[in-house]
Parts: sequence; C-alpha cells; structure tokens
Amino acid sequence: MWKWLILIIAVYALYRLFANDFLKKKKEDAKTQAADMERKVAAGEMVKDPQCGAYVDAEESISVRDGDKVYRFCSYECRDKYLQHLKEGGRELPLHHEGDA
Ligand SMILES: [Zn+2]
Repeated sequence: MWKWLILIIAVYALYRLFANDFLKKKKEDAKTQAADMERKVAAGEMVKDPQCGAYVDAEESISVRDGDKVYRFCSYECRDKYLQHLKEGGRELPLHHEGDA
C-alpha cells in the first residue's frame, strides 16, 4: 500500500514539475513576443491599423497616402471603412497604392 502512495506522490510531483516548467516557458514566449513586437513598432516595421487597432507588418500592409502621412491597414475592409469614415468627416482621399503613383 505504501508503495502505491509513494508512486502517486512521485507522479504528482513530476507532473507539477513539468506543468510549472511548461507554463513558465509559455509565459516567457509571450514576453519575448511582446518585446519583439515593441521593438518592431519602435523601428517602424510594425504599424497600427487606425481602423481596428491591430498591428500590421509595414511591408505587407495596405497603405493609403494622406499628404505626408501614410495610413496602413490590415485589410481592404479596414481601409474602406476608414476612408468612408474620413469621407463622412468631409475628407476624401484618392485611392491608390504606394508605388502606383
Ligand atoms: Zn484592421
């Protein structure tokens, strides 16, 4: 009987050990990702979609030029919504991609 109890405790201890390790690793991964994101945002590699607030890769985003400013969107849907919003506010931006002009 004692053997079983010890075995159960040993298995439980091992389980806790691995579970803790796993959770810690996950947390660290998330931290690394957040730090990586911050770095990219600071470097201008990642930009915020003004419509939905998502961060998008500057290279792969859908961009709309507004004078000196460039808005970058995660999707055409967001871009269209944002432009519609500007239009309602009395501003209309010509639609063209960067590089088209
Ligand atoms: Zn978006």
